Amino acid sequence: MQQMNAMMLERIQDLSRAAAPLVSRRIPVPQPEDHEVLLRVTACGVCHTELDEIEGRTPPPRLPVIPGHQVIGRVAGAGNGATRFAGGQRVGVAWINRSCRRCRFCREGLENLCPDFAATGRDAHGGYAQYMTVHEDFAFPIPERFSDAQAAPLLCAGAIGYRSLSLCQLRDGQRLGLTGFGASAHLVLKMIRHQLPDVSVYVFARSEGEREFARSLGAVWAGDTQATAPHPLDGIIDTTPAWTPVVEGLRNLAPGGRLVINAIRKETADQDALLKLDYASHLWHEKEIKSVANVARSDVARFLELADRIPILPEVELFDLAEANQALLELKNRKIRGAKVLVMDPD
Ligand SMILES: [Zn+2]
Ligand SMILES: [Zn+2]
Repeated sequence: MQQMNAMMLERIQDLSRAAAPLVSRRIPVPQPEDHEVLLRVTACGVCHTELDEIEGRTPPPRLPVIPGHQVIGRVAGAGNGATRFAGGQRVGVAWINRSCRRCRFCREGLENLCPDFAATGRDAHGGYAQYMTVHEDFAFPIPERFSDAQAAPLLCAGAIGYRSLSLCQLRDGQRLGLTGFGASAHLVLKMIRHQLPDVSVYVFARSEGEREFARSLGAVWAGDTQATAPHPLDGIIDTTPAWTPVVEGLRNLAPGGRLVINAIRKETADQDALLKLDYASHLWHEKEIKSVANVARSDVARFLELADRIPILPEVELFDLAEANQALLELKNRKIRGAKVLVMDPD
């Protein structure tokens, strides 16, 4: 049986102590089941959600599991009834691995809220490997314009950024705040410049490096997470793992403004920041707070189309598959400039 390299999560652990959270393994190449395609993976983005899986905030139901949900690959095989893609065709796989397609959420196009939502790289093996399988209806054709590495971060950071921005319900001319400036926020900024050119963007980030990066991409202002923006903001997208930026964000929100939390789980280190929540200054005046959960296939498909049209070419930082642990630890320690992507050797 043909073997492949995979970086596997075998146990939940604390990343502040673990030097190598994933283990390199040689395992059999998976066989596609009915309506599935086999992909030879060429690139896979590294996402903050992997940290949440490893540290057990959104634990995989079964271990070991191969993480990775921003996967680009070539169709290398097909199971019975899988006819959608040709052999060799380039496709992507995103966080949404499967939903029931029957419940009321699925019927309304809210498959991201399906009770049977399954996630790539958590509930099913993902793309930190040379091969993976996926149901053909949950694979996306990738526009020609992008290299494999450029396309990978579009599938999560981009798609969820797109969903977050839609949930902000901003009108052109309004002011948007971004707390944290990682892969998703930098793609949102690029999207804004094109879709809503008169929206001005204010970035809150801990490191001067991130703030400088934000200004270089067109943010009108960038300050520390606890800074006061020069103007109240109509919408804020929070992409940090912490609570202080949420509380500080609510303070910076204009009357009627909405703060959207784009995070699958929050860390608990600064949870008592919530005790500073003051109704009058943080919530009154019809301020809203809303979370973003997962992505629907329509978010991924629409964002890929938009990214091709604009175009949005993400800034990427490349790692070999074997360097996945290094990429994850750099993400944990917020050494971020654009999106980290693993690239696979064909061998
Ligand atoms: Zn992700
Ligand atoms: Zn459903």
